[in-house]
Amino acid sequence: MHIETIAIHAGNRTDEASQAVIQPIVLSTTFERNETGDYPKGYIYSRAANPNRELLENVLAKLELGADAAAFSSGNAAGMAVFQSLKPGTHVIGPDDMYHGLRNQLKTLFAGILEFDFVDLTDISVFEKTIRPNTGLLWIETPSNPLMKITDIDALVKLAHERNIKVACDNTFASPVCQQPLTLGADLVMHSTTKYLSGHSDITGGVLITPVKDEWWEKIRQIQQLGGAIPSPLDCYMLTRSIKTLPYRMRGHVQNAQLLAEYLEKHPKVEEVMYPGLPSHPQYELAKKQMNYAGGMLSFVVRGGKEEAFKVAASCKIFTHATSLGGVESLIEQRASNEGPDSTLPQNLLRVSVGLEHIDDLIEDIAAALGEI
Ligand SMILES: *Cc1c(COP(=O)(O)O)cnc(C)c1O
Repeated sequence: MHIETIAIHAGNRTDEASQAVIQPIVLSTTFERNETGDYPKGYIYSRAANPNRELLENVLAKLELGADAAAFSSGNAAGMAVFQSLKPGTHVIGPDDMYHGLRNQLKTLFAGILEFDFVDLTDISVFEKTIRPNTGLLWIETPSNPLMKITDIDALVKLAHERNIKVACDNTFASPVCQQPLTLGADLVMHSTTKYLSGHSDITGGVLITPVKDEWWEKIRQIQQLGGAIPSPLDCYMLTRSIKTLPYRMRGHVQNAQLLAEYLEKHPKVEEVMYPGLPSHPQYELAKKQMNYAGGMLSFVVRGGKEEAFKVAASCKIFTHATSLGGVESLIEQRASNEGPDSTLPQNLLRVSVGLEHIDDLIEDIAAALGEI
């Protein structure tokens, strides 16, 4: 089946009790037992399993061509479950521009429990040199946030597997429409479903997806159920509903991002545009090889400094100056100030989540804002 069909059908089933075509929201935290004490529908208690979460997990697993999925209350909770599943003392290698919330999680919550290094994973030899005898996990994020660097998933997976290292891939920026890391050999896919999968900036959630139900996956499932960082039935319902339009939304994001990137690249007040769909991107060929589409995120560097970047963001009328990404509305953000004092990003870098407004309106808006500097 194609992704458009999966997105619509894999998260839904006709309700047995009412014949409702759309799965109802089941808010009950507890489920009735029969005379022998069994649970006729398999549900016991909502932290362990809930019909809305089960359907959400089913569609998410199928979108990534996986065997199973575990939904969490946020992307960070999903990431945390991965790190908690590792044996204490395990060495983790992540990208030097790893999503700052997860990098901070490792540095603050896992200090003394796990060992970690953050390195430039676009250079395979750097990864090879960073491997230690206790390296157990390679964490990939591609395209990276916000520099849009591309990491060669296939090449790193091959090298990691030779050394018995598991590979997890944060696929939030790409979405399963643009990239499916399990098809490139990854052992786990993670998403902040807060972003493209939700698509409307009104749900916080996360997910892990596995290609096999092995021992590692059992452990992750236990962390989900015993740790309890689960999404509510309402959030699961809303997310399942959003996912139905994901493939069409994604194509709109990609189309607008490509046109905006091409416009910005020619603008005299723009020094650099980072978008994997531009032939000027240093890893354009690699992006074309491992991605179906270049995605809906781009960054650009304006002439000037922090002040000019803030001025552009503040002057936009359609783009909102706010963090996050993946919603139907376009967002622009001076990124360094969001990451805090230890950010190494250029102060004049603006990150854009290209929304689904008409491209002519978006270009007109950003042209006017650039005219202010
Ligand atoms: C937002 C984001 C996360 C964290 O997800 P939350 O839902 O905010 O906890 C992780 N990775 C990437 C790439 C993100 O953009």
